[in-house]
Amino acid sequence: MSHLGILEPGSRHDLRVGISPDAPDEGQLPDEGEGAFGYAHSYETASRYDGPGLRVVLFLSGCLLRCSYCHNPDTWHLKDGTYISAQQVIDRLAGFAPALRALNGGLTISGGEPMVQLAFTRRILAAAKQMGLHAAIETSGYLGDRVDDKYLENLDLVLLDIKSSDPQTYRAVTGRDLDPTLRFAERLAAMGKPVWVRFTLVPGFTDDPANVEGIARFVAPMKNVEWVEVQPFHQLGAFKWKAMKLEYKHVDTPTPTPDLIERVFEQFQNAGCNVR
Ligand code: SF4
Repeated sequence: MSHLGILEPGSRHDLRVGISPDAPDEGQLPDEGEGAFGYAHSYETASRYDGPGLRVVLFLSGCLLRCSYCHNPDTWHLKDGTYISAQQVIDRLAGFAPALRALNGGLTISGGEPMVQLAFTRRILAAAKQMGLHAAIETSGYLGDRVDDKYLENLDLVLLDIKSSDPQTYRAVTGRDLDPTLRFAERLAAMGKPVWVRFTLVPGFTDDPANVEGIARFVAPMKNVEWVEVQPFHQLGAFKWKAMKLEYKHVDTPTPTPDLIERVFEQFQNAGCNVR
């Protein structure tokens, strides 16, 4: 059993490893449970990027994908996170709640993957809603089949990462199947849940015009998708791969050129998406 820790504020760019060596494997967690405790990487208190208004962003540990360009491989395993109580998170959040409400913001739970720790996130999201906060998660959607509609009721927004529209490319960059993500997107569309689709533009990996076109065509008819956000690949996470002695495929991958970004924006726009 991991020892209960205190989660300090920090940044998604902090390297945090080996904090809870006795944690279970992220792939073997039960779908549900009490949810009183969980594993977290860090939290930021003043993001204006991960949802509307001012956000507290909680970065959880645990992800089943292995994106080759992941900026935070130190969020993959529960054992690298700090073991904390949901109550600790809720108490901290309550301290920020008046400012978050005043600035039309709220809580975003990111990762790693929030749906790995379903009961834990369910508890925290419900508490955020009770405080009158806007609540969001950022997810790959891979575990979307795990969540019931009640879980989604506590969400005002889903930041859904669609990494590719092509099953082979998706598997090549994430190590997993694309279908669960598309299924989850369709479910959110059917229930009218607000979504911002996020697409990471990685030159030589996800920038193929047909790949972008596939995402644009899939998303464009979905009235619940408020924005498509194009996230240009960057090297800010490279140092983590090195420190963790992981094989990093993107040492020589450049950041996208302005011309490439413009082409991708145009593809989304021409399909009828709101893109930024
Ligand atoms: S889904 Fe996110 S956290 Fe998981 S490997 Fe991919 S980029 Fe990293």
